[in-house]
Amino acid sequence: MIAGGQEFAAVVAPLEDSDSSSDLGYQAIDMGGACCLGAFALQVGDKKKSDSEGGFDNDRWMRGLRRINSEEQMDQFVQLWSHIQSITLSHVRDKISWNLTADGSYSASSAYAIQFCARVPMPELNKVWSIRVQGKVKFFFWLLLQNRVWTADRLCARGWPHDDNCSLCDQEMESAYHLAFRCPFAREVWLQFHGDFPDMVQRAFDATDVCSWWDISRQCGTKDQRMRELPLAIYVIWHIWKERGRRIFQNKVATVPGVAALVRADMDLLSLAF
Ligand SMILES: [Zn+2]
Repeated sequence: MIAGGQEFAAVVAPLEDSDSSSDLGYQAIDMGGACCLGAFALQVGDKKKSDSEGGFDNDRWMRGLRRINSEEQMDQFVQLWSHIQSITLSHVRDKISWNLTADGSYSASSAYAIQFCARVPMPELNKVWSIRVQGKVKFFFWLLLQNRVWTADRLCARGWPHDDNCSLCDQEMESAYHLAFRCPFAREVWLQFHGDFPDMVQRAFDATDVCSWWDISRQCGTKDQRMRELPLAIYVIWHIWKERGRRIFQNKVATVPGVAALVRADMDLLSLAF
């Protein structure tokens, strides 16, 4: 048995009660880089169905390596051959244990959890939930901060249907940052609030990305100022997003003053709720 790659080697290990010094499978796992070489052997060899003892006895595994056709593959072959010289096979069967559970048994939940082990925590995300806006708007903004809203750049990356250009300005590739702060249409909407909230509008115009804008906005000014400005700013972005959806899915267009009026209507409702 040969491990299929470094990812596999990271989550499996030899069982303690086995003879790891003489079992090829364990050696392949322990060698780290050799795991990739093992995958290489499977790729170019024609002895894919051979077991450890059958395939490696008298170097029979090498007889299938007729498909080597590049210098890189030859180099990998030489590396693999040198690793294998130190291995002595026994009749002990290969066994693996799952490193992510206490008893060494595989579980789907542990495999799912390992996918998120390298995620960078964003404590500022939690601040979203304390902003006084509707729940659906909080959720939208929470997704936006993580660049998980389905804007054209993300649809393009997935190969899903999309229009390359922003549906509001038809000038640039649509992204969360573009929609919220860079789009000429969005900037016109922001400007509708410049009279009463000049600092908020200036921060939007100075934004270099969505997260840094959020970091700065939730720390600027007095607490009272933030209580007024943060919900308004989030509703401005929300209604820009809604206008984008209206144009794409309903083929309807609202003007800049029309979008600003929708923002003000939501803010009026909000003042009754809180
Ligand atoms: Zn645009």
